[in-house]
Amino acid sequence: MRSPNPETKTTTEPEDHVEHWDEVADVVVVGSGFAGLTAAIEAHNAGASVIILEKMKAPGGNSIISDGCIAAAATPMQQKAGIKDSAELMYSDMLKAGLGLNHPDLVREVVARSYEALQWSIDYLGVEYLDRVDQFGGHTVPRCLTALNVSGATIIRQQISKLRELGIEVRLQMCLKTFVRNADGRVCGVVVREGYDHEDSSGGTDRYIKATKAVVLATGGFGSDIAFRMAQDPRLTEKIDSTNKPFATAEAMVEALKIEANPVHLSHIQLGPWACPDERGYGVGPIFSEYIVFLYGIVVDAVNARRIANELADRKTLSDAILNTGQPCIALADSKAVEQSGWSIDSCLKKGVVKQFNQLDELASFYGLPPAALEATVEQHNTCVEGKLDRDFGRPIPPDASPMTHPPFFGMRLWPKVHHTMGGVQINVRAQVINLEGHPIRGLYAAGEVTGGVHGACRLGSCAITDCLVFGRIAGRNAAAERP
Ligand SMILES: Cc1cc2nc3c(=O)[nH]c(=O)nc-3n(C[C@H](O)[C@H](O)[C@H](O)COP(=O)(O)OP(=O)(O)OC[C@H]3O[C@@H](n4cnc5c(N)ncnc54)[C@H](O)[C@@H]3O)c2cc1C
Repeated sequence: MRSPNPETKTTTEPEDHVEHWDEVADVVVVGSGFAGLTAAIEAHNAGASVIILEKMKAPGGNSIISDGCIAAAATPMQQKAGIKDSAELMYSDMLKAGLGLNHPDLVREVVARSYEALQWSIDYLGVEYLDRVDQFGGHTVPRCLTALNVSGATIIRQQISKLRELGIEVRLQMCLKTFVRNADGRVCGVVVREGYDHEDSSGGTDRYIKATKAVVLATGGFGSDIAFRMAQDPRLTEKIDSTNKPFATAEAMVEALKIEANPVHLSHIQLGPWACPDERGYGVGPIFSEYIVFLYGIVVDAVNARRIANELADRKTLSDAILNTGQPCIALADSKAVEQSGWSIDSCLKKGVVKQFNQLDELASFYGLPPAALEATVEQHNTCVEGKLDRDFGRPIPPDASPMTHPPFFGMRLWPKVHHTMGGVQINVRAQVINLEGHPIRGLYAAGEVTGGVHGACRLGSCAITDCLVFGRIAGRNAAAERP
């Protein structure tokens, strides 16, 4: 459920209502995920004093539970692996998945600065990545690096330690209530609830924090805000689970809408096709489905055992195909696929979301699939692998793929979960928030999942972190350079 914003006296507080400011900084950053922490570092390094506000008891937002996979085009890591890529190719992949709704100037910015952002995370933050380049659904070529431990926490930890080095702590349990604007309509501060408790939002006290230069909104998406997401897409009821943390709610974005930030693409809410209904939240299942099955295995309809789509399609295409079957589909792969992928599925087996079988017909019987039909589907898949051509759905066949003939076989149920909200406030390439009349709202910047436009109708896997780092850096620098 949407956490009620601690009772708000006015939709936006005019500055002349503020009797005194409790604190002052040049730049106030709201939110402590990838986007907010990046903006704070860059604002500090551009000479600004910075305060970071976070409503929860711990920093990191959804970023800290992410897989830490970041996409970048034409990198030396790709070159080393013999992969040809370009900014144009990544741009066209993002637009194709986004159904052309993406704001082209924002996509160009993300793509053009993707390698620079990745390298910054390595050189400046000290983030370490696995020595492999992965390909996820909708990307034409492998271009995704994964942070050590397959965790966004690897990046957040480095960001927080960098901020400590710079003398900046994240202020916890500080929930944005509303923006304060001066007589010219410029955002000049925020009202926050200090001592905010997400479980019981009635407590705490209001604090007035002045931003002499700008406020950066980096409060993430609204995947767990059932009321708000259902207003955009009524199908996304409480019965559809989410991979997001429960605090991924819309109230801070709504405050920006109240001061006339232009909302874009709010009804485009992404479901993750790799999710397993036999565990809560994101879980461990995606290690098997996204990293192994979508490349080397197959996804079949639970009734007729036929493949349903290109398993490496973008998330929207694949989620829609699964939902259209009306019940969870089955993802399957053999032991050779697991070996080729280089990933371990021990955690998936231990948790019981992935099951192991000595024979394909045992797998069929466990999931209630017609055995003969499954055998025919696997044979057809094997023919595609041998011929290096997927005649049925056009999935690219990896050069090291083998026919699915090596027991044991592994299976997992798939049912999509709410994962990412593509919509949010409109920004321009300077990360300024744009109002309903198409002009920047002075003193207000935004970055990360709270913004809309970069991903259009569907975000490609690994492009959110790129977006957060690229626009977090831009927002931080430009906020610090504001001349009030
Ligand atoms: C399980 C999972 C795995 C993912 N894996 C990947 C991946 O590997 N690669 C990729 O590119 N993307 C991935 N994503 C998506 C990506 O992680 C997110 O889009 C990204 O982390 C969002 O970062 P952010 O900084 O915009 O928001 P967040 O990280 O969500 O941070 C926003 C912060 O703002 C705070 N906040 C919200 N409202 C207020 C308020 N009113 N006052 C004060 N603070 C507030 C929140 O508490 C939160 O801490 C994944 C997402 C999930 C859920």
